[in-house]
Amino acid sequence: MKKHTTKFKEESGAETTKNITQTRDIPVIAEYDVVVCGGGPSGFIAAIAAARGGARVALIERHGFLGGMATASLVAPISVFNYNDRRIIDGIPWEFIERLIEIGGAREEKPIGNITFSPEKYKLIAQRMVLEEGVSLYFHSYLTGCRKSEDGRLTHVIIDNKNGAEAITAKYFIDCTGDADLSYQAGVPMQPMKSELQPATLIFMLGGVDTDSLPMIRHSQQGVNYHDMDMRKILEEMNKKNKLPKFGGPWYCGVLDHGLALVNMTRTYANMADNRQATETECNLREDVFAFVDLLTKNVPAFKDAYLVMTAPQAGTRETRRIQGIHTLTGEEYIEARDFPDAISRGCHPVDIHSSSSNNQRCEFLKDAAFIPYRCLIAPNFPNLIVGGRAFSADGISSASVRVQASAMGLGQAAGVAAALCAKSDVDVSKVDIPELRETLIRYGANLNN
Ligand SMILES: Cc1cc2nc3c(=O)[nH]c(=O)nc-3n(C[C@H](O)[C@H](O)[C@H](O)COP(=O)(O)OP(=O)(O)OC[C@H]3O[C@@H](n4cnc5c(N)ncnc54)[C@H](O)[C@@H]3O)c2cc1C
Repeated sequence: MKKHTTKFKEESGAETTKNITQTRDIPVIAEYDVVVCGGGPSGFIAAIAAARGGARVALIERHGFLGGMATASLVAPISVFNYNDRRIIDGIPWEFIERLIEIGGAREEKPIGNITFSPEKYKLIAQRMVLEEGVSLYFHSYLTGCRKSEDGRLTHVIIDNKNGAEAITAKYFIDCTGDADLSYQAGVPMQPMKSELQPATLIFMLGGVDTDSLPMIRHSQQGVNYHDMDMRKILEEMNKKNKLPKFGGPWYCGVLDHGLALVNMTRTYANMADNRQATETECNLREDVFAFVDLLTKNVPAFKDAYLVMTAPQAGTRETRRIQGIHTLTGEEYIEARDFPDAISRGCHPVDIHSSSSNNQRCEFLKDAAFIPYRCLIAPNFPNLIVGGRAFSADGISSASVRVQASAMGLGQAAGVAAALCAKSDVDVSKVDIPELRETLIRYGANLNN
């Protein structure tokens, strides 16, 4: 099968400022205290947190539903809330899981607190919780630019949707786009782009699966988690003989419906923050899905009668841009669980690095549940911008753990609370009262201590 190839300019070195030229008259349609860009795990939690702090909040999302990678890319399970059976990520993120469990949309795997979930019920509970807080939702709206004043303060975000281009103004902005789209548009310096980003993956859903006998994903506390070693050995043998597409795992995860399973198996190198590479990747991985479905139905007994239900609406992105914040969280600080006076969230997933150039995964386990300082969510000279989720300021090691969904939600919670506090006292994001921020987070249920 012919693979899609696009000519694109190679990116190298640090990404910096992008010039924004406004050529159209863009109407300003609304004004808020806080605008959150991106409605993934970090973004919808940030919007709820900011609204509970008394802010008037808008949430902008390019899809017609919330959940980001969890729903648009069918990434499952939600990892991880616990360390040694101790709840580490708590507060609004866990409240969301409890609401999901209530409607039969989630199940906790103990002791580490991995959550198997129904993507459709996830979308429903996320939107209910956001709407209950009075957040204004802008679905099908792509953040495409921003405006700044002379002093570096963001004044507007520009969104594009069926109405055309529209501007929204706010006092504070939270970037939860995963790819740091808002920060990039605003000119925030980025971490140097690594030569080997973690791979992109198109997850797919199979029906007709014997879900009772399928070896589903179980994250252990140690080692690499390959759950179907029989299939992996077959793939490795085939790989030696002829050219198989790159693969990971394979990892299988249920969606709490009998007969349905998600398969995380495809992989390729791509900078998914580049439109041409993302297009090429979607096309090529779709070809790979069909090749893998054929192999799985022939070789895995539980997939004997399986059929392809769908590929995820969007290939999953593990790693792209991250901002250069006031502090960059290093792997060393993170793995040794160093505490910080401005710690605002935690992480407890192993450092989980998937290779783009091979079929392998590297997992390094933490000495204890780690801490993330507030300084990693803000950049020097950007007085009203906070970043939540995987685009926060971190090196490739610490981010390889914090990127997972529970810790991304924890960062969203902290970003939302911080933005609401800043809006209340009218201060720059670097001047937020740290003791008050931490006390508020603890009151919301966050575990910042043990
Ligand atoms: C293949 C794969 C496997 C993974 N496995 C796991 C796992 O087992 N467990 C786990 O917990 N995590 C896993 N992850 C990681 C996890 O899914 C993500 O890191 C996490 O979702 C990050 O959350 P986020 O809120 O920072 O970003 P995202 O989930 O990427 O959400 C960003 C949101 O912003 C929106 N957006 C982006 N740009 C714009 C724009 N310009 N305008 C408007 N909206 C925009 C997106 O549509 C999306 O809703 C995996 C990821 C991948 C790709």
